[in-house]
Amino acid sequence: MARRRRRPECRDKVEPDLSVPGRNDIFVIGDTASLVDASGRSVPGVAPAAKQEGTHVAHCLLARFTGSRAPPPFRYRNWGNLATIGRSVPSRWGGPQQHAGRPEI
Ligand SMILES: Cc1cc2nc3c(=O)[nH]c(=O)nc-3n(C[C@H](O)[C@H](O)[C@H](O)COP(=O)(O)OP(=O)(O)OC[C@H]3O[C@@H](n4cnc5c(N)ncnc54)[C@H](O)[C@@H]3O)c2cc1C
Repeated sequence: MARRRRRPECRDKVEPDLSVPGRNDIFVIGDTASLVDASGRSVPGVAPAAKQEGTHVAHCLLARFTGSRAPPPFRYRNWGNLATIGRSVPSRWGGPQQHAGRPEI
């Protein structure tokens, strides 16, 4: 299922606030969502994007419940990525610093 979700054509296209088109009471986030964000880039299927989308939907719902102004359209912020390859070789890229190799403990 994870492999299927990672294919862009298998994701649900969502509105800029991550709601389903025509159903503003349903939101889709994470690997199941397909969105070109406010910066014009396709949101990648990575964990930080899923977390940021979750936070965005929480803010949208809070604004609705409190009657305050809705947040601006979702924009993914790439602060960098972290992957662990094997058991002890982390790699960090895409942010202000690049790291690779074994951690010094
Ligand atoms: C092999 C692999 C390596 C990856 N490595 C990285 C990495 O190094 N860095 C990175 O940032 N991202 C990585 N990713 C991507 C990252 O895992 C996903 O982008 C992220 O987990 C998406 O979060 P999500 O909440 O959308 O989905 P998930 O994290 O997959 O969460 C979905 C949850 O829903 C549950 N679920 C599914 N169906 C049902 C159901 N019917 N009822 C109830 N629960 C259900 C699942 O069990 C799961 O817990 C990797 C992905 C894969 C497949």
